[in-house]
Amino acid sequence: MMDNEKEVLVEIRDLDVRYKTRLGPVSAVDDVSFDIFQGEILGLVGESGCGKSTMGKALMRLLPPATDIHGKVIFDGADVLTFSEDQLRDFRGRRISMIFQDPMTSLNPVQRIDNHLVETIQVHEPDTKETDALSRIRGLVERLGIQKERIEDFPHQLSGGMRQRVMISLGLVLNPSLIIADEATTSLDVIVEAKFLDELREILDEFGVSILVITHNIALVAELADRIAVMYAGRIAELGSIYSVFDNPLHPYTKGLLQSVPSIKLDEREVLYKMPGEPPNLTHPPPGCRFHPRCPEVMPICSNHTPSLLHVTSKQMVNCWLYQDHPEKDQPTIEVAT
Ligand code: SF4
Repeated sequence: MMDNEKEVLVEIRDLDVRYKTRLGPVSAVDDVSFDIFQGEILGLVGESGCGKSTMGKALMRLLPPATDIHGKVIFDGADVLTFSEDQLRDFRGRRISMIFQDPMTSLNPVQRIDNHLVETIQVHEPDTKETDALSRIRGLVERLGIQKERIEDFPHQLSGGMRQRVMISLGLVLNPSLIIADEATTSLDVIVEAKFLDELREILDEFGVSILVITHNIALVAELADRIAVMYAGRIAELGSIYSVFDNPLHPYTKGLLQSVPSIKLDEREVLYKMPGEPPNLTHPPPGCRFHPRCPEVMPICSNHTPSLLHVTSKQMVNCWLYQDHPEKDQPTIEVAT
């Protein structure tokens, strides 16, 4: 979908995810299409409830059974949304894996780290002997900065940074093509996070794995990712290379997000931008552009017609009527929520 020298690893097309709730269907992901390239780090950014974690879970088919999913998630030419349970068991871990925010809820508190890693290998590769699995694991954890004797520890005996490294080991141990990291550094303090990010970037380059970083922290994406996808209310607002989006944000929501991040150059009397209004209730999302009740550049067309995610330059796509033609664009401006 975008000019990129790398090959496409995952094609997401027209993806809709609707949760069934007592209050009615919640449109968590609405008509989302984008690609993930081989070997790239793509940052998926947005505020809580915008659908970014739902996107990650949809790629792994980890959503509750009562969820409606439509569209396509093409991985190696096959649509993940059509996989049987047997195909999914083989796919998860081996082709795609996920690192969650809190390692303590993903690791087994009564299982040693080495046993957990050996079990992960042997579930997917039943012919691998325990001794072979262990030597593979020792090499991997040492590369990730964990002394090999520490893999005999239980999760509670490790620091937060070490546990997060164990989670990366679990993510990498089967050599997947894509890792989804969902708020993977949120539980770390700022200094450990910065060191962890430097190491993560190096390791991912070395393994050649693609990574989808899901986060609310746009500064983290600036540091780590090659491209950024900004998500708002279940839709992609803007998608592009880190340099193009940070140098020249085009979507009013992206502009607001970047203006609300403190800068080290910020004058202490300067006030950060505060986005007007609140994120919409996705049981009854606003018609047209879902950002229109909060948008400082809203036009009459925005409340009636839904824009599409289209290329504005070869490295940047935007989902906004400001960059698309329509006869209704010339009508007078309407009020914005404050
Ligand atoms: Fe604002 Fe309209 Fe663009 Fe939506 S489509 S972001 S309301 S200008």
